[in-house]
Amino acid sequence: MNSIQMSDLLAFKGSFSVRKTELPYGRQWIHKEDIQAVADILRGDYLTTKSVIECFENAVAEYTGVRYAVAFSSGTAALHGACFAAGIEKGDEVITTPLTFTSGVDCVLYQGGIPVYADVLLDTFNIDPESVEPLITEKTKAIIAEDFAGLPCDAESIRAIAKRNNLIFIEDASHSLGAVYKSRRIGSFSDMIMFSFHPVKHITAGEWGVIATDNEVYYEKLRQFRSHWITKDVNKSTVHSKTLYYEMQFIGRDHSITDIQAALGLSQLKKLKKFIKIKRKYAKIYTQEFKDMEEIICPGQPDNIFSSWHFYVIRLNIDKIAADRKDIIEALFKENIGVQVNDLPVYCNPCGQGSGYIKGSCPNAEKLYEEMIILPLFPAMSKNDVIDVVRAVKKAIS
Ligand SMILES: *Cc1c(COP(=O)(O)O)cnc(C)c1O
Repeated sequence: MNSIQMSDLLAFKGSFSVRKTELPYGRQWIHKEDIQAVADILRGDYLTTKSVIECFENAVAEYTGVRYAVAFSSGTAALHGACFAAGIEKGDEVITTPLTFTSGVDCVLYQGGIPVYADVLLDTFNIDPESVEPLITEKTKAIIAEDFAGLPCDAESIRAIAKRNNLIFIEDASHSLGAVYKSRRIGSFSDMIMFSFHPVKHITAGEWGVIATDNEVYYEKLRQFRSHWITKDVNKSTVHSKTLYYEMQFIGRDHSITDIQAALGLSQLKKLKKFIKIKRKYAKIYTQEFKDMEEIICPGQPDNIFSSWHFYVIRLNIDKIAADRKDIIEALFKENIGVQVNDLPVYCNPCGQGSGYIKGSCPNAEKLYEEMIILPLFPAMSKNDVIDVVRAVKKAIS
């Protein structure tokens, strides 16, 4: 037992908590230059010009190493746009992971598609390519894979399966902006990749989602889907052309964003590298502290795949612990550590995302959901905060 544990054994029932104030599991980190960038927009004449938004889209495309990016009002709206651009229609099947945020499945349902669940790998929490291929039928149109907790999915294998079967590969990279897969930044293996800029993600634009793609056809569809399906191009006009003319060619939606968000996102993007570096350092501390404990299984880190560490997720080895996960979580709350559990396997929700799926359908996803605890990890936390989490976890488990 090391010194961290010795000093804490008395605390959790009654006496002192490891921390006096609550540590959240994630939060944004805003600096004065971010505030300045937003204020500059607010002082200007327009709040929704195109130029700042295009600057941000271009910056994301460049960062990802693809040609195009289209920003949407949220990651959820962006995924909906991707399903639309992919041509998902009523009755089409989309193979996806059940261990994901609900919008990764809702986007299929919005289009009338049918989600088909492949199981995940126990060591990475990501979709298992071997469980994808047997699910392909003549109705399958696309595969959606998430990079769980910031660790890229096995994009090369999924891309190969998609190519062989003429499917579209959509990557949900809400957690993994800045992650590296086989020496390349993620984004070039999938047909469309989605990044979310919700405040709890790596960097924020208030809310916001972006689809990055190399495909010009998807790019055009995404832009029109976002903004009312407006065309001002008289050559495409179906009625008489005149100046100041525009028309709606399909029933559209408004998933637009503002310059306020774009300015914040642009300013935050400059700090992404630094944020990820800090998170990597903290993740390393967690791994060092927990890797030899038989009660805890640390997240897997496959060779040549580098997580950008959206969060740090441990698994409890329940057989080795006298308490169950609920007790451990309650003990951690008492220590003022804001832990989290995400992603009830999507088909277990009561709102109808899994017709035909019953408990036991994807055993690995269900097992991970029962075992996981997400620990705080965000760049604005200090090394002392990380040590607090380590102490609290060791205390709760002992
Ligand atoms: C955050 C998130 C989304 C999209 O969320 P928005 O809040 O709509 O930006 C989608 N998938 C996953 C895995 C997420 O974590």
